[in-house]
Amino acid sequence: MIDFRSDTVTQPTQLMREAMMQAKIGDDVFGEDPSVNELESLSASLFSMESALFCPSGTMTNQIAIKCHTQPGDEVICDTLSHVYLYEGGGIAANAGSSVRLLQGDRGRITAEMVRNAINPEDIHKPISRLVSLENTANRGGGSCYNFNDIESIRDICSTYGLALHLDGARIFNALIAKKETPKQYGKVFDSISICLSKGLGAPVGSVLLGKADFIKKAKRVRKLYGGGMRQAGFLAAAGIYALHNHIDRLAEDHLHTKLIESALQKKDFVGHILAVETNILIFEVKGKYTAPILSAILKEKGILAISISPTQIRFVLHLDVTPSQVQQTIEIIETL
Ligand SMILES: *Cc1c(COP(=O)(O)O)cnc(C)c1O
Repeated sequence: MIDFRSDTVTQPTQLMREAMMQAKIGDDVFGEDPSVNELESLSASLFSMESALFCPSGTMTNQIAIKCHTQPGDEVICDTLSHVYLYEGGGIAANAGSSVRLLQGDRGRITAEMVRNAINPEDIHKPISRLVSLENTANRGGGSCYNFNDIESIRDICSTYGLALHLDGARIFNALIAKKETPKQYGKVFDSISICLSKGLGAPVGSVLLGKADFIKKAKRVRKLYGGGMRQAGFLAAAGIYALHNHIDRLAEDHLHTKLIESALQKKDFVGHILAVETNILIFEVKGKYTAPILSAILKEKGILAISISPTQIRFVLHLDVTPSQVQQTIEIIETL
């Protein structure tokens, strides 16, 4: 099977497994796991941020960040398609007790003007606007990327009105590669950043939350509260360290593969609108002789797994376990449909 369902399906490479087996470990709840400490300092220095915290998932890093930035009754501003809103089980309400102001952005991206218009005035009737959460790349936007100057404009609005700015950077490295940006640029403008090691970077488990030292100190307490304190987590951190050293630059290959599949799809009459490919995610509309679930079933019979994310849309996600020859095979299969 060629698996395009998600970039989370990757298996650790042989070299990553070796790095994991050789990891120096300790009890991380005591702060004594050298590999976790190394992963945290490596991640923080990559983004020039003060401090970092290793967590089991990106949902947890996002939720911890939101909890630490807000008080119950505050309001979080984000795009309607955000993972923090759509796919974290109502965590903003359940964990932070915050309300959410949803903005209709462009493929998951919001603008400074939209943010400014959504900030509540000082008024006892209204929740206090406290946090803006951005997602880059935007998953439901089909892997779309922000222009960095738009993020800077949002930063300016946040600073003017006293709001914190969080980045759900589950796929930030895809954005950095696509836009030729650096992690340090991002470290400068965000109060907190969540990065995922288990998406395109190919590690089996884990996300890292980045921020100022006092913020991460608070976050560590919340991680314990949420049950995310892990013991000999160094085996997992070692995979993350390996991924940060070896799996960032190769994301360009996934982006190229996504483009090649996009070109093959463009020639088919059952393909409607395709969200223009920017990174490793391809979302397209199915029309005419197939519906999305039917096309997904036909692809499965031919050895291709892709999720139908709505009755009319299919999503392909490229990752390091899809080889160039599998991409070629996929294109040949698409040509026969
Ligand atoms: C995958 C993902 C997360 C985190 O998901 P976990 O499965 O909890 O690690 C967060 N944000 C986005 C945009 C994602 O795609």
